[in-house]
Amino acid sequence: MKVIVTGGAGFIGSNFVFYMLKKHPDYQIICLDKLTYAGNLSTLKDVMDKPNFKFVKLDICDREGVYKLFEEEKPDVVVNFAAESHVDRSIENPEIFLEINIIGTSVLMDACRKYGIKRFHQVSTDEVYGDLPLDRPDLYFHEDTPLHTSSPYSSSKASADLLVGAYGRTYNLPVTISRCSNNYGPYQFPEKLIPLMIQRALNDEKLPVYGDGKNVRDWLYVEDHCKAIDLILENGKPGEVYNIGGHNEMHNIDIVKLICDYLDKPYSLIEHVTDRKGHDRRYAIDPDKIHSELGWLPETMFKDGIKKTIQWYLDNKEWWENIISGDYQNYYEEMYGNK
Ligand code: NAD
Repeated sequence: MKVIVTGGAGFIGSNFVFYMLKKHPDYQIICLDKLTYAGNLSTLKDVMDKPNFKFVKLDICDREGVYKLFEEEKPDVVVNFAAESHVDRSIENPEIFLEINIIGTSVLMDACRKYGIKRFHQVSTDEVYGDLPLDRPDLYFHEDTPLHTSSPYSSSKASADLLVGAYGRTYNLPVTISRCSNNYGPYQFPEKLIPLMIQRALNDEKLPVYGDGKNVRDWLYVEDHCKAIDLILENGKPGEVYNIGGHNEMHNIDIVKLICDYLDKPYSLIEHVTDRKGHDRRYAIDPDKIHSELGWLPETMFKDGIKKTIQWYLDNKEWWENIISGDYQNYYEEMYGNK
C-alpha cells in the first residue's frame, strides 16, 4: 500500500506519518508538503532515512507537479491534511485559505481521478458546523448537522468538504471525510492555544485569552485522531462522513489555568484580550457513528494527554524556540501587540 500524506510536515500530518510508519511498516508513506510557515522539516528528521518513507516538497495547488508525482508514484491512498489552518490568519488574509484549502483539494482529487486511487480521505474539522449555544449542553454536532460556518477558515474547509462529496457522487471517486474536534499533542505550531500558553508560561510571559475565555472546545489527543483516520481508511465506507471527538469539552480559560497549575505559574499571567471576530462559542462533536460502525474510541484521557504534551514541550525546547523566533514573532506582535 502506498499512501500520500499531504501536509505531513505540520502538526497532525507528522503525527499521522509517525503513527502509520509504526503501525504499518509494510506501507510506503510519501509526505507531500509545501513547507509553509506551519510545516517544519526538522519534525520529520527521525524518519527521513527510513526506506519506506519519502519527503516531497510540493504545493498541492501545483497541478503539473501533483500530476507528475502521481504518475511516478501511483499511490493507492491520499490523505489530505495540507491546509492553511489558523482561524486568526484567515481573518487577516482569507484569500490564501480559499486557494489552498479549496483549489488545492480539487487539484489532488483531479489527480486521483486521472491516475486512479483506492481512497481519497479529506481531513476536515468540526468548525464546519459553526457553533452551539453555551446554555444548551444537550446539543451536539452530528454528521448530518447543516454546515454553518463562521470564519473564512471554516468556510474554506466546508467548501472543500462539499467538493469532496461532489467528486464522490459525480465521478465515483472513493472519498471519505472526517470532521475532528480540536487536537493537542507534540509538534503543534505555537500559535495554537495549548502550545502558545505552554511556551509563554515557561517564559513567564503574559497569557493572552480571547474575551471572557468561556468559549468551549472539545479536545482530542492527536494520536487518537490518527488512529481514527487509519480505521476509516481500512473500514470506512466511501461517500461517508465520520465525526471524531473526545467528549472532552473545556472552557478555554480552564485549559490555560490547568497549564499554569502544571507549570506552577501564577494566574496573574493571564490577560484577557479583545475577543476574536466572529468567535464561535461552543463546539461539541457526537462521535457515535465512528464508535458504533468502526469501533473507535479515544484512548488518551485529557489529564494524561496534557501532561504528556507539556512534558514534550519541556523536552523539545529547541524545536519550538526555533519556530517562535523570526517571522512568527512579527506575526504574534501584530495579533496581540508587543506583550
Ligand atoms: P498545520 O498548520 O500544523 O499543518 C499544515 C501543513 O500543511 C503544514 O505542514 C504546511 O506546510 C502544509 N501546507 C500548507 N499549504 C500547503 C500546500 N499548498 N501544499 C502542500 N502543503 C501545504 O495544520 P494541522 O493543525 O496539522 O491541521 C492539519 C489538517 O487537519 C488541516 O486540514 C486542518 O483543517 C485539519 N484539522 C485540524 C485540527 C486541529 O485541531 N489542529 C482539528 C480538525 C481538523
